[in-house]
Amino acid sequence: MRFHTIIEPFRIHSVEAISFPDERQREAALVQAGYNLFGLRSEDVIIDLLTDSGTGAMSSRQWAGMMLGDESYAGSRSFDRFKTAVQDLTGFPEVIPTHQGRAAEKILFSETLSAGSIVPNNTHFDTTRANVEYQGAEALDLVVPEGRDPGSLHPFKGNLDVERLERTITDNGPARIPLVMVTVTNNSGGGQPVSLANLRAVRSVCDRYGLPLYLDACRFAENAYFIKLREEGQASRTPKEIAREMFSLADGCTFSAKKDGLANIGGFLAMRDTELARRCRNLLILTEGFPTYGGLAGYDLEAIAVGLEEVVDEEYLRYRIRSTAYLAEKVAGAGVPIVQPPGGHAVYLDAKRLLPHVPPSQYPAQALAVELYRQGGVRGVEIGSVMFGRAGPDGTEIPGPMELVRLAIPRRTYTQSHIDFVSEIVIATAERATEIRGLRMIEQAPWLRHFTARFEPV
Ligand SMILES: *Cc1c(COP(=O)(O)O)cnc(C)c1O
Repeated sequence: MRFHTIIEPFRIHSVEAISFPDERQREAALVQAGYNLFGLRSEDVIIDLLTDSGTGAMSSRQWAGMMLGDESYAGSRSFDRFKTAVQDLTGFPEVIPTHQGRAAEKILFSETLSAGSIVPNNTHFDTTRANVEYQGAEALDLVVPEGRDPGSLHPFKGNLDVERLERTITDNGPARIPLVMVTVTNNSGGGQPVSLANLRAVRSVCDRYGLPLYLDACRFAENAYFIKLREEGQASRTPKEIAREMFSLADGCTFSAKKDGLANIGGFLAMRDTELARRCRNLLILTEGFPTYGGLAGYDLEAIAVGLEEVVDEEYLRYRIRSTAYLAEKVAGAGVPIVQPPGGHAVYLDAKRLLPHVPPSQYPAQALAVELYRQGGVRGVEIGSVMFGRAGPDGTEIPGPMELVRLAIPRRTYTQSHIDFVSEIVIATAERATEIRGLRMIEQAPWLRHFTARFEPV
């Protein structure tokens, strides 16, 4: 039988104390950090929802696996276990370990893109966009229109707009498009899933023009579970079967093991193309390490191999997707505007709707993120004009497409009462929204400025 209450499908094996900075300490920490929550120390934070990347709890099986780590420089047994786990899941024969997802991106794009290339994607993640642009190429976001509408209840808001993809290819010529990418789930677009039907349609456009298709597969398991829940005819399949079909439609993938690898570090680049893999391995040796460890310890490879098995467990995914929806229902039920339906790994608060009095030039989502920290020590992250704003031709800034605060839920880390606390802080902050003032950016870097920018209150 199925029980009504969905419980955390684990017992806690080891605990880490939370610190409780008071109001005065939080205010001082904000000033010190230049109102950039990336500048806070972890002791300054009560509940840390900055990211779900590398912040999850590993299982006792993963820790046990780490003791088997083979630290041989070349030909490590741990690499064999890692490679077998990746091949079993993805079906890609070429497996190249990297220290993070962005290293996989850097290597793939260095070998495939050149100045003037165009990379279509549903929505590029920030490091993916930066790595495309670093090659002098254009990162083109082609998510379906519903994906840009925070209120739309479409079940697959991460889908790529296939018509616009085809138009992009015919307008620019396939030669300018070395590869097409689809991000599952669509992190920067609200953690929204992509359907199998959409992946098949993208595949067939790619086939028509001879273009390779790569998945940015960081949250493949969450995406597979959404397919099981929402796509017709998929309910009786296992998440692993669905994930395998997703990978079968692609020519390769980049992956950050800090997400659905259930590990604290790691990543990989995997593909079918043997010749491209050979070139990527040469670059890997230059920047990451020998191809049987790629910047990771043998024990990291073990942790990822076990994580890739655990992440497709149905009890785990039911709890994972449900606990995110639980936070979303609580805050939305109190009238806080969020991106609907909630994504897999995070709840996205819609700062444009909550703070209509703060213009994009004063970074409403950053202001809201700062206020959540000030009120309750909850650290989220801005996904708005700080992250995606661009300098326009006349020097003024073109704002990002949305102004969101992402509350990312680390995997297997916080319990229901932690999430109840977060809901309370979000709701209390929203109740005094009209008092929240914007911010002025006073310092920024040329790339990925959101990590280091400094602000002051307007
Ligand atoms: C995290 C992430 C990346 C980059 O991975 P890192 O391990 O942080 O370098 C790329 N794409 C998406 C969708 C991500 O969420």
